[in-house]
Amino acid sequence: MQNFTDIDDKILKRAIAENSSMKEVAEKYIAAYFEDADRLNILRADSYPRATHTIDGIQRLIHELEQLNYAYASDGDVYYAVRQFPEYGKLSGRRLEEMQAGASGRVDIEEESDKKKDPFDFALWKAAKPGEPAWESPWGAGRPGWHIECSAMVRQELGESIDIHAGGMDLTFPHHENEIAQSEAVTQKPLARFWMHNGFVNMDGEKMSKSLGNIRLTRDLLKEYDPMAFRLFVLQAHYRKPIDFTAEGLEAAESGWNTLKEALKFSSDFSKLPGWSTLPPELDQDAVSRFNEAMDDDFNTPIALSVLFELAKDLRREGNLLIHEGQTQMPVEELQRYWQTLASLAQVLGLEVKPGAGDATLSTGVSGTGTVGLTDAEIEALIQQRQEARKAKNWAESDRIRNELQSYGITLIDQKDGTTRWHHT
Ligand SMILES: [Zn+2]
Repeated sequence: MQNFTDIDDKILKRAIAENSSMKEVAEKYIAAYFEDADRLNILRADSYPRATHTIDGIQRLIHELEQLNYAYASDGDVYYAVRQFPEYGKLSGRRLEEMQAGASGRVDIEEESDKKKDPFDFALWKAAKPGEPAWESPWGAGRPGWHIECSAMVRQELGESIDIHAGGMDLTFPHHENEIAQSEAVTQKPLARFWMHNGFVNMDGEKMSKSLGNIRLTRDLLKEYDPMAFRLFVLQAHYRKPIDFTAEGLEAAESGWNTLKEALKFSSDFSKLPGWSTLPPELDQDAVSRFNEAMDDDFNTPIALSVLFELAKDLRREGNLLIHEGQTQMPVEELQRYWQTLASLAQVLGLEVKPGAGDATLSTGVSGTGTVGLTDAEIEALIQQRQEARKAKNWAESDRIRNELQSYGITLIDQKDGTTRWHHT
């Protein structure tokens, strides 16, 4: 399940700025989110509850908290009384006393309100203000606070305890802490067995933020980079660590994706070889167990990817041998096992060659955007120039061209008959 907290101060602000309604703004961004997610091959969740569809469940939960003395109504608002929940702070490791002592803690707490009994209390229900969307409730017309929306949606959709709760590291405090306080006060059961928090997203070494003006949208990056290269880039960092988007990093990921893509496509050539079975072979157990071990270790995708690249490099070398020398080194049975293993592990990570968009041709591995690599024709033209340099005994120029091609990952092999073959390194 993935929820949409579609009642929120930020959405409301945006609606006012765009002279639109909260509902319209939410719909627009939810649709945009699905578009981007589909392009990145992010599978759909089983359910997508929304706060606006869970108003009854939200009000029920607030009512229960009130009855259990964890919440109090105050002039149309309802607040959670943080000091009633002794374990408050257990997820983030923050203690109320420490936050109170240090002025820095104050920046994280909810907006000041004289309706609160304690500055750390947070709103479960907010009384309607003129022009804002509102729902009828036992406390008067108003709207839910952000934190209670999540607790209510989890409870309604999945029950009292869940296995894994995921979210951004920046939401650990106060959002997830407040979710725990709300849910566990009522159920007396752990809200989640595991919390998975993804690291900050940086842009060129700085935190992406509105105030720095360095926000880049996924959809803009997808105009420049293959969605699978983008996906690979994200998987190359451990999810708990910060991820730093840079042009160099994304270009390297694009070239990495080309390597994988090429290897995945070699099956069409290999499958013509005698000995290629029509039945899928057993997978390479060594590769599979190393992959699983990495994934079992808190989703260590950088290590898991290294297994894919090992297989891909062997397949690519064999594929180039087949194209340029007409034969492979590895037995066909082994090739098929490697290919099958690569294809199945890549699929686990959602790295799949989709027909169409920005396709590389088999023998070149050139990306559709032309930012990485050379086309076949460009390679042949450079080889031709080098032949002429050699004829003129201009060895410096000949070496320069060889090095230039090498920088694109193209290795030249001069044949006895004076011709030159090439392959990817
Ligand atoms: Zn949440």
